[in-house]
Amino acid sequence: TDRLITPARIAEDADAALRPKTLDEFIGQKGARENLRIFIQAAKQRGEALDHVLFFGPPGLGKTTLAQIVAKEMGVGFRATSGPVIAKSGDLAALLTNLDEGDVLFVDEIHRLAPAVEEILYPAMEDRALDLMIGEGPSARSVRIDLPRFTLVGATTRQGLLTTPLRDRFGIPIRLQFYTVPELELVVRRAAALLGLNVTAEGSTEIARRSRGTPRIAGRLLRRVRDFANVAGHAAVDAKIADAALLRLDVDHLGLDLMDRRYLTMIADIYRGGPVGVETLAAGLSEPRDTIEEVIEPYLIQLGLIARTARGRCLNAGGWKHLGLNPPEGAQE
Ligand code: ADP
Repeated sequence: TDRLITPARIAEDADAALRPKTLDEFIGQKGARENLRIFIQAAKQRGEALDHVLFFGPPGLGKTTLAQIVAKEMGVGFRATSGPVIAKSGDLAALLTNLDEGDVLFVDEIHRLAPAVEEILYPAMEDRALDLMIGEGPSARSVRIDLPRFTLVGATTRQGLLTTPLRDRFGIPIRLQFYTVPELELVVRRAAALLGLNVTAEGSTEIARRSRGTPRIAGRLLRRVRDFANVAGHAAVDAKIADAALLRLDVDHLGLDLMDRRYLTMIADIYRGGPVGVETLAAGLSEPRDTIEEVIEPYLIQLGLIARTARGRCLNAGGWKHLGLNPPEGAQE
């Protein structure tokens, strides 16, 4: 289903136009940015390729953007692919042998690589070599091809989804965090300036608060609010028009949409606050388990509305209250 605030990439995003191009332009993720700056400078000073980087965190937080920035700051080429599109080990071999010296190879959804493809990646990452089997049966032999120096930048929504041997081969693992409201205000103002749109301070706060901690959603909500402002004949986006627009789009004051509220309502109404297993919720909501775990739950957990426990998902007191219901005895605060 298409959720307005789904952090997944959709065509209308025009993501590319709004992407920060340098580390200085990139808002938030201070720790990640400072570390990257040091590692990049050190690699450049030594005249080496940057060590392999793994970004993990929910969709829309800037993993692809940072991968592009890494290439740009290193002054090298950028190639992008994703785990599910590399069907055969030969596809990856072709990609790797076509890299130029120092290039960044970005692999989105790297946890979805086929096992046979992943195995090609190990020697490529470790020894910058490709081990290919030629022929079949008794006459088969393995040949080793040297690869150019390159930096693999992997992105995944959850670090736990990676196999240990793959995870261990990344020298620079970086976890991206949800953005704070002040950071998202900056994201909104920057995007508004790029779109040539007039947004008041209160207007940007309203949009920032309702962006689920996610820059991609902030950009998308800004564009939708702009449509409402245009049609209503308002020159500027203020808090009032933002609020009216977002309510009509069913984005509530915490930034939750219909899907988030269906999730919370299901735990409250049918499972009396839980615990309930994620598979049961996935079946009830007709959503893939991955979407629930990687898109819906992380932000609800961040807000403290739900908890993941060993026995399943539970509604916390805040979750009940957000639905306008009284928390039962024993609900976690
Ligand atoms: P991911 O790869 O984690 O799904 P992206 O890198 O594609 O996320 O970012 C999604 C969009 O959000 C980008 O188009 C960019 O415009 C915006 N964005 C992400 N991070 C930032 C940031 N720190 N500052 C400004 N805009 C950002």
